[in-house]
Amino acid sequence: MYFDTHTHLDDRRFLSDQEEVIKRAQEAGVELIVNVGENVKSARRTVELTQKYDFIYGAVGLHPHEAKDFSVDVLEQLRDLTREPKIVAVGEIGLDYYYDHSPRNIQQQAFRQLIRLAKEVRLPIIIHDRDAHENTLRIIKEEKADEVGGVFHCYSGSVPLAREIIKMGFYLALGGALTFQNARKTVEVARAIPLEYLLIETDCPYLTPVPYRGKRNEPAYVVKVAEAIAEIKGLSVEEVAQTTTNNGKKLFGISE
Ligand SMILES: [Zn+2]
Ligand SMILES: [Zn+2]
Repeated sequence: MYFDTHTHLDDRRFLSDQEEVIKRAQEAGVELIVNVGENVKSARRTVELTQKYDFIYGAVGLHPHEAKDFSVDVLEQLRDLTREPKIVAVGEIGLDYYYDHSPRNIQQQAFRQLIRLAKEVRLPIIIHDRDAHENTLRIIKEEKADEVGGVFHCYSGSVPLAREIIKMGFYLALGGALTFQNARKTVEVARAIPLEYLLIETDCPYLTPVPYRGKRNEPAYVVKVAEAIAEIKGLSVEEVAQTTTNNGKKLFGISE
C-alpha cells in the first residue's frame, strides 16, 4: 500500500475527471494521499477534498511562486484553515529561485512567516526548494523549523545536503524525477539515504514518471517511484511501500 505525500488534485487539469483519477489511485493500492495547497483558494479546495474522501488529507500554504500575494489577510485565512481536522501540514512553502515568479526577498519573508505559523499551530512543513538550497537551509535554521519538522518535497539536491537535512530531523520526498534518464544525482540520494528518511510522492499533475512521461501525472503512478527506489536499493517494492507509508504517517500524525 502506497502513500502519495504530495498531490495537486484540485488543479484545473483534474477538473473533468477528478473522481476517476482518485478511483484509479485506490485501485493501484494508494491508501493515503496528502493534497497540497498553493494559495488560499487551493487550500479551500484541499479542505473540500479531505471532507469528501476518507483517505485524503491536506496541507495549506502559499507556494513561493505566489509569495507576491502574501499579506496579513492571507496569513489569517491560512491560519483558520489549519484548524480543519484533516489538515496535517503547512505547505507548500519555500523558495523557488529557478522561476523567480516572486521577488526573492518577498519569498523569504513569506517563507519565514509561514514557518512561524506552522510552529504556532504545531504542524510540520512541506518545503519547496528549487535552486535555493543555501537560503532555504539558512531560514529553516534561523526560524528553528526543526521544532515541527517536515519534508523537502521533490528533493533535487546533493547527497551531502541530504545528510544535513535528515540530521535536522527532516524527511526527503522523491518523485517521478527519479525515473528520468538524467536523474543521476537523485539516484545517488536514493541509494545513500536510508529508507527511514524517505517519502514518495507524485506532485501530480507535474513530473510524470517513466513510462508515462508526456502524459498528465496522477497518484496511481506513485507506484513507479516506489519501484525505482526498490530497484536502486535492492529491496522489495512492498518494503519500500510499507516503510515510506509508515514514515509519512509518523510525520503527518496519521494513525489509521
Ligand atoms: Zn513544489
Ligand atoms: Zn507541489
